[in-house]
Amino acid sequence: MPISWHCGEPRLAVAANPQLLIPNPSSNPMRWSQTLIPTMKETPEGAEIPSHVLMLRAGLVGQVMAGAYTYLPLGLRALRKAEAIVREEMDAAGAVELLMPALTPIGLWERTGRVEAFGDVLIQFAVRRANRKVQMALGPTHEEVVTDLVAKHIASYRQMPITLYQIQTKFRNEERPRFGVLRTSEFLMKDAYSFDTSVEALGRSYEKMYAAYCRIFDRCGLSCLPVEAESGPIGGDVSHEFMVPAENGEDMVVHCSACGYAANLERAEVGAQGDERPNVAPEPVRKVDTPGASTIEQVSRFLGCRPQDMIKTLIYAADGRALAVLIRGDHEANEAKIRRAAGVQKLALAEPAMIEHVTGAPVGFAGPVGLRVKIPVWADRAIQFMANAVTGANQADAHLTGVNLDRDFQVAGLADVRNACDGDPCPRCSSKLAMRHSIEVGHVFKLGTKYSEALAARFLDENEQLHPIIMGCYGIGINRILASLIETSYDQNGILWPVALAPYEVILVPVNVMEPQTREVAERTHDALAAAGIDVLLDDRDQRAGVKFKDADLVGFPLRVVIGERGLKQGKLEVKWRWEEKSQMIDLDGAVEQLAAMVREERATGSRFNARKKA
Ligand SMILES: [Zn+2]
Repeated sequence: MPISWHCGEPRLAVAANPQLLIPNPSSNPMRWSQTLIPTMKETPEGAEIPSHVLMLRAGLVGQVMAGAYTYLPLGLRALRKAEAIVREEMDAAGAVELLMPALTPIGLWERTGRVEAFGDVLIQFAVRRANRKVQMALGPTHEEVVTDLVAKHIASYRQMPITLYQIQTKFRNEERPRFGVLRTSEFLMKDAYSFDTSVEALGRSYEKMYAAYCRIFDRCGLSCLPVEAESGPIGGDVSHEFMVPAENGEDMVVHCSACGYAANLERAEVGAQGDERPNVAPEPVRKVDTPGASTIEQVSRFLGCRPQDMIKTLIYAADGRALAVLIRGDHEANEAKIRRAAGVQKLALAEPAMIEHVTGAPVGFAGPVGLRVKIPVWADRAIQFMANAVTGANQADAHLTGVNLDRDFQVAGLADVRNACDGDPCPRCSSKLAMRHSIEVGHVFKLGTKYSEALAARFLDENEQLHPIIMGCYGIGINRILASLIETSYDQNGILWPVALAPYEVILVPVNVMEPQTREVAERTHDALAAAGIDVLLDDRDQRAGVKFKDADLVGFPLRVVIGERGLKQGKLEVKWRWEEKSQMIDLDGAVEQLAAMVREERATGSRFNARKKA
């Protein structure tokens, strides 16, 4: 019977088989020849980024199909270690573990309107039960299930605060699975949910989770940046993402190194510009023919002007009504900011029919001067510093030049409605913003009452008054902890694991396993280290030492111990940390105690691993 690997402690009946009775399951000793570590010399086809390449090459994972991977023994050990750190810190923060099913009834999602909100991301299907069809969804997250649970069992203020969590496989249909385990349709997630009686109490629950997240990522050897974020389809008004800056990250983080301000691209504010309108004489408005040129790029090439001299006019359907937004040609509109500035709920680029109706022209020639229908016009703040701009003429194949704000058109408001760019002013200090590619490993949200209202999770207060429960939710992508660690910690030979996540802490490499004394010392050291609670792997393969050294570096075991005839003659073993240049010789006499002490110290502090980052 298959046992799901993500449901906490294994509950196999081990008593019947004495070989399975291992006193400390985390220090399960192992010989290379008895496990499955399919390392590869070549870069596997289709693997583009270091974490994907190295996880495949080091035999941590094997691909089953696009976006689906088997965790091989070494990969699973690393994953379990990340999981254990998350579990320890959740427990320490007072959260309580439970396990909800991946299979969920579609009715729960309908009650919160998320069948529509998730769209194709929600994996759903019908199964036949007796004579009826039952529609189900594989949980992409568990707000609905947990809120329904709480609605049934929590009714009084006395039962709160409480934070429930699980470590469970999630399913989100990924249209373009890529980058190895970074973007897959099935992934292991820790999701926690807090339930409180007041906004202040929610603030305290949120702070506890935030602090636990900082400890988790620190223990995992990740340099993590908590950033302000939009809350997205989950809802709510305050949220932070925990981002690991990495060259191959798909998310952009806007960061000010002077004051520490950090936000994701969607959320990042742009500081007020000190710019003034360039001191040039205003030109008259002129209409110019631009046959077939409708994009910023085409028009700038055609007229020989720079994108930053042009105004993009975007027509949106805002709560069903037309709205024009003006953005400098080289900037990108930010829909979350537009929604907030214009005070609208639903925002989408208008359909061609609406655009043609308000501009009187085909798509691509909209401009703020001479719109056929009077609609509200919002402008990004950068528009006020433009002089003699180029805009669409609200007429096919024509643009206007010499357009100036106030003289030629008016706006309903000026606001920050664009994405921040590299070098923009920081909103908190006088310094400049920088963009950094990052990987999101965690996210914390203040949800409020969205789910408790939809699913009738209410409580009675001290005065017997009924209120909706106030919720928060908190996620961590466990697989992403491994991938982002590797993305930020490797060299030309392979992975550099911190002791906290390494599949094994120590690798023993006997130079020649056929040599009796070498073999005997290797076996004895292996058994003694395992007995001392150290995770140790013995490379007992009858291979050239060079091959074994290469594999040890590729997988990246933190501490390598070489047992060779020459050293043994002097009563010595050679010891080297994976991320340090130099090896050292230690006395065979007392070697086990010394090695165990080295590992324990590094476990406790991670200081040698962290020193590598500064080097
Ligand atoms: Zn700043």
